[in-house]
Amino acid sequence: MNRICVWCQREWADDDSPPIVTGMACETCREELLQPRTAQSLADYLDRLKVPVLVMADDVRVVGGNAAARALLGKDAADICGHLPGEVIECAYARLPGGCGNTEHCKACTIRQLVTNTHLTGESHHHVPAYQDIRLPGGVREMRYLVSTEKVGPFVLLRMDETSI
Ligand SMILES: [Zn+2]
Repeated sequence: MNRICVWCQREWADDDSPPIVTGMACETCREELLQPRTAQSLADYLDRLKVPVLVMADDVRVVGGNAAARALLGKDAADICGHLPGEVIECAYARLPGGCGNTEHCKACTIRQLVTNTHLTGESHHHVPAYQDIRLPGGVREMRYLVSTEKVGPFVLLRMDETSI
């Protein structure tokens, strides 16, 4: 059976891969994700993907975003690296007192729950529906998307599929 790789979106012939999220990745992507040679080779690989991916450090700080994520968010690497996720995606709550991670709304934040869980357990999540009130030049709008997380070395990759605003 042919499947579409969730990372690079190429068609690939399914083998007897284990039913984990990386199992839905083609062989090339599995290699890149499970055994990245260097941080630079991982960044280069992520830049070639069409899906937006944020690279999160263990403290839920964003340490990078691939080219598709930078295009989606309209930000360059400096606006992403070292910032909190709510600041990066312009979450409306990130501007409240306490900031991203410390407001009443943050307890229900899908991104935070999934990234923390994946970081602590190594467990992957696939296509969990999420929504976020984000600040756009015209005002606050609700963004809906599907979140997937994957642990790669000390990082958690956060993939945002089927984003709609
Ligand atoms: Zn792939």
